[in-house]
Amino acid sequence: MPSGSRHISRVVWLSFLVLVGAGFLFCSRSRPAIRNVLLISIDTLRADHVGAYGFPRPTTPNIDAVAREGVLFKNVHTPVPMTLPAHVSMLTGTLPPTHGLRDNLANRLPDASLTLAEMLKPRGFTTGAIVSTFVLDRRFGTSQGFDTYDDRFQAVHKIGDLSERKGDETARHARDWLDEHKAQPFFLFVHFYDPHDPYEPPEPFASRWREHPYEGEIAFADHCVGQVMDKLRQLGLYENTLIVITGDHGEMLGEHGELNHGFFIYEGALRVPLVVRVPGAAAAARQVDAPVSLIDVAPTIVSLVGAPVPKEVQGVDLSPWIAGRGAGGGARPIYAETVTPTHYYGASSLLGVIVDGWKYIETTRPELYDLRSDPAEAVNLLAREPARADALGRTLVSILAAAGRAPGPAPESAALDEESRQRLAALGYLGRSGGVSSQVFDRSKEDAKDLIAFFRKDQRLNKLVEDKKYAEARALCEEMLQQRPGFADCHLQMSKIAASEGNLDAALTAARKAVAVGPKNERAHLQLAALLKERG
Ligand SMILES: [Zn+2]
Repeated sequence: MPSGSRHISRVVWLSFLVLVGAGFLFCSRSRPAIRNVLLISIDTLRADHVGAYGFPRPTTPNIDAVAREGVLFKNVHTPVPMTLPAHVSMLTGTLPPTHGLRDNLANRLPDASLTLAEMLKPRGFTTGAIVSTFVLDRRFGTSQGFDTYDDRFQAVHKIGDLSERKGDETARHARDWLDEHKAQPFFLFVHFYDPHDPYEPPEPFASRWREHPYEGEIAFADHCVGQVMDKLRQLGLYENTLIVITGDHGEMLGEHGELNHGFFIYEGALRVPLVVRVPGAAAAARQVDAPVSLIDVAPTIVSLVGAPVPKEVQGVDLSPWIAGRGAGGGARPIYAETVTPTHYYGASSLLGVIVDGWKYIETTRPELYDLRSDPAEAVNLLAREPARADALGRTLVSILAAAGRAPGPAPESAALDEESRQRLAALGYLGRSGGVSSQVFDRSKEDAKDLIAFFRKDQRLNKLVEDKKYAEARALCEEMLQQRPGFADCHLQMSKIAASEGNLDAALTAARKAVAVGPKNERAHLQLAALLKERG
């Protein structure tokens, strides 16, 4: 070998050593570089049903294992207990009054909005998403920024229902995606739907959790999370991937009279887990008490990969807390809302704010709770603490004013076709249209608290019609119409029942009634139009 080339190779070798040394110094001072990002969202997962959050039964061994090596945020709220709006908040870092998606089917996120995938893509990440419910179908705009968006799946829930898929299929797709994209830095978003009702876990989870099927679904989803973690380890990617595990909202499980989620904004529906595992030993395992929101997920991920947080983002970058430097911060206001009572029943929306352990809910009869001494929100302290309620009410007004002023494109109509509406109905989403209530507090409407019994009847009615138990459904419809003669959806259900039984005249009469009492009810119009077309 000529001496010149030996000299060159020595120079190259020395340069290499210098670079490695510099890299080592850099790494020992800060965290090692994050090569990949994995964001997992588990639908309908109450924080207090996760082992790492103190649940006594072994629902989540795989999430708990990640939490033991990462940072667990103990006090996390979703801004809205509904799948699409909550995921849009998670993926954009903005509140529902800003991004404008406040219900499951009314709107789509405009292309001009900025999503986490769009924030990461310019940093060289290959982006992919695998979702498990039609509610997150690409037509709602959540796919923007993803190179691949896997929302195409087969029936698993009920015959003819193409609306959701089970976690094992989701996990299989995630593992395949990782195999395919392991060579490049990636951002993968995986959404599991299983804990959402109905609670029907597959075996062996069904037998093992016979007494607690919701927990069985959580255990199944956790098992599927474990399969994705195993794949990361097999591919040698577990140690250089930022792993974030969270949920979109909780589940009421009968608290305050609500079985599922979306109607109230009590803690059971709002508290979700958030576990962040940053690669490398520099990020020690710890638990964080500070109140945080689902809108913090996007800015935190963006900051951890070294990118600037876009100015549109309203969430907080949690990386100082992850590094153990975060301020205590009990006073940060956390916002939550649901417009379901307005959209479905013309009642007051619920708009809430939590500050320093106190929660205020603006509605017809406002509510004030001391979450520290009364986590069940059983005692309304409004009359006893009017000054505190006023102060929180003013905070709420300022949050809503800022959220409404925030720049951003207006949400677009999702313009659903009837097939999409049917899919949503099969998922238990009643699928009503109608404008979002104004942010001006209006206490003249009905209070949601007075409507919970009717809401449950409405849920039961949907189930009866879905299960083709028409005699029972009809009797329930009559009972409901006596309570609320102007409730168009009862007439609509009567029309659907008559149509299923082949009685076209009765179906038309009921559809006309539905349109007459609910002139803004789009489903009633669609039903009438379909029946008129059928009659020719
Ligand atoms: Zn959900």
